[in-house]
Amino acid sequence: MLFDITPKHNRKDFFDREEEIEKLKELRTPILLVLGLRRTGKSSLIRISLNELNLPYIYLDLRMFEQNNYLSYKEFSLELQNEINKLANKFPYLIDFLKEIQGIKIFGNEIKFNWKKKERPSFSSILSAMEKIRKKVIIVLDEAQELIKLKGINILPSLAYAYDNLKNIKIILSGSEMGMLYEFLKIDDPNSPLYGRAFSTIELKPFNREKAIEFLKRGFEEINIDFKDYETVYEKIGGIPGWLTYFGFTYMEKKDLEESINLTLEYAKKLIIKEFNNFLIGREVARKRYETIMNLLKECKTWSDVKKALELEEGIEISDSEVYNYLMQLMKHSWIKKENRNYCVSEPLISQAFR
Ligand code: ADP
Ligand code: MG
Repeated sequence: MLFDITPKHNRKDFFDREEEIEKLKELRTPILLVLGLRRTGKSSLIRISLNELNLPYIYLDLRMFEQNNYLSYKEFSLELQNEINKLANKFPYLIDFLKEIQGIKIFGNEIKFNWKKKERPSFSSILSAMEKIRKKVIIVLDEAQELIKLKGINILPSLAYAYDNLKNIKIILSGSEMGMLYEFLKIDDPNSPLYGRAFSTIELKPFNREKAIEFLKRGFEEINIDFKDYETVYEKIGGIPGWLTYFGFTYMEKKDLEESINLTLEYAKKLIIKEFNNFLIGREVARKRYETIMNLLKECKTWSDVKKALELEEGIEISDSEVYNYLMQLMKHSWIKKENRNYCVSEPLISQAFR
């Protein structure tokens, strides 16, 4: 069902995006990027592709670390261990390759990773073991920008090693915070292990008016509900697939346009505030300033408008570099975007949360 509010696993429940699915499934480069704002359908796109490719995979959902200030190697390693155990269930001979690696112990048909600094297995050696399955194996790191918080280990050399040497390993990295993902990968930094590599990149944009309306039409047809107010919904909710899905789902229950729109806006607002609070972790001292900027950028404004507003609020001079830094941080985390000389919130519903 199109209006199911969980990530989709089947193409029949997923509207449009045919080209994007095909492009991902080609697995054209050793590392692939799936980019797009939150709730544009990245996880669904990946799940559907995995389902159709029918290849062995591990799927690390790093969104669970969104609220962490940092991510320890132990937490990462336990997640990885879980996923590898699931894979080893399907390919028991994987255990034979893994048990050769230092820092991996086998208990019956379960593996355990040591996470002590000197004894732990390297990420490269784990990937090399998976390479030996002799089939393409897919490693998904969903919301990979969270890995920037990983302390005590740098996995970029392993990713570069896999890129250059492990022909069977395909790594899919998704990111809602595109600037942060690029910062994590350091693709443009000549000193970075991944410097100069090519990545097949799939970007999911929000639906435009026409697509949004078609999506809603198809969704309501599927559940035999007579609906007409497509334009109103697009005006109020915009084109982010996740919010439109939530609206459709709510309308199905309530059968009332205004109530369903309001419930969707309420829900969106709560989630956005929660996510913005995650963004503020480690930035508490500047909370007020970030909120002032977000309030201001409901309508597009220039850099100097932002500076003026911050100074007006506090009655003191705020340096150019500070203003620059706030805007950069908000952009890297996809809260705002730059259009020509103007800065604006990255999607209309974000404005709802800052009132
Ligand atoms: P992301 O991983 O980008 O945050 P998800 O895949 O979790 O996005 O999708 C968010 C919500 O929107 C889910 O409920 C999903 O089912 C729905 N959704 C996103 N894109 C589509 C689409 N093209 N067709 C149907 N539902 C979609
Ligand atoms: Mg996702």
